[in-house]
Amino acid sequence: MCICVACSWQPSCTAYHRVESEHGVPHLNQNPDFTPENPQIHLSVQAVQNSWGVEWDVRSCDSFRPGGGI
Ligand code: SF4
Repeated sequence: MCICVACSWQPSCTAYHRVESEHGVPHLNQNPDFTPENPQIHLSVQAVQNSWGVEWDVRSCDSFRPGGGI
């Protein structure tokens, strides 16, 4: 699970913006301006119907600050 959903930097974070792009979901913010320290992104490849999909999740981050929306 991506820890960003529990982080208060989420709306302004450039790394989360990239994760949104990779997931093909709408951006919370078109112009994020916060650069996180040392986000560790976990990629997993999964079978999706007759193809493959890649899941992007931030698993750890030195800038994590509790207080996100979920
Ligand atoms: S955990 Fe890190 S990468 Fe994720 S939203 Fe927070 S600061 Fe950004």
